[in-house]
Amino acid sequence: MKRIVFKVGSSVLTNRDEVAKERMLNLVSLIAEARKKYEVILVTSGAVASGYTALKIDRKKAVSKRLLASVGQPILMHSYKNKFDIYGVDIAQILLTEEDFDSRVHTKIFQDIIDSALANGIIPIVNENDISTIPDQLFGDNDQLSAHVAHYTNSDTLIILSDIQGYYEENPKKNPNAKLLQEVNEITNEDLNQEHSPNNEFASGGIVTKLKAAKYMMDNGRSMFLCSGFDLKAAKDFLFSEKYESGTLFRKK
Ligand code: GLU
Repeated sequence: MKRIVFKVGSSVLTNRDEVAKERMLNLVSLIAEARKKYEVILVTSGAVASGYTALKIDRKKAVSKRLLASVGQPILMHSYKNKFDIYGVDIAQILLTEEDFDSRVHTKIFQDIIDSALANGIIPIVNENDISTIPDQLFGDNDQLSAHVAHYTNSDTLIILSDIQGYYEENPKKNPNAKLLQEVNEITNEDLNQEHSPNNEFASGGIVTKLKAAKYMMDNGRSMFLCSGFDLKAAKDFLFSEKYESGTLFRKK
């Protein structure tokens, strides 16, 4: 069975100070369907944003951000658990930092947990451990984290469910007629030096962090599909019909 990683961002999972329950349910039902054909790992953001639903404190201060993540992580997992229960699927929470990818010992620990969860039919749900780590040990955005998870778990494809539909020839915020690129085979330094602009106050990533993730996947002989997390049709077409008309597939030729 092919192994895939889904990554979903804060802007998809939250809506005006609340967990976007319907979108999460759509995602969970997509995963429940996908696991008939693939081994599925989920990398989710949304801890800090979920924490803010309970506690209105200034997330810009380091301690407040950690507190929001620690309050929000169980809120987030509780929402996932309720929804996966509908499908009778068990989940495992796995919190990682950059250091887990840095030493053979640490890396093997989480690889074994993920392999063993999948072998037991459990969906591993990964987030960055924003709580007890120093900034140097953090990726800071889950785009990089998810690409590393995909590589180190030997997954074929990373699917990033985002608040954008894919990668455009030009910035679609500046030019609404910009053309969506269906397939990208190379990422240049110029691509990586674009303006970095997350669309949501709780999101850490933007198009550049997604391109970095795509480059990392391609450099490691894997692929990445970037598509909408609001409307999951593009993801479904890609997963079940191998069509990728309404998202961007990054892969080396
Ligand atoms: N780990 C952070 C959270 O769950 C999000 C990082 C990101 O936005 O990619 O809130």
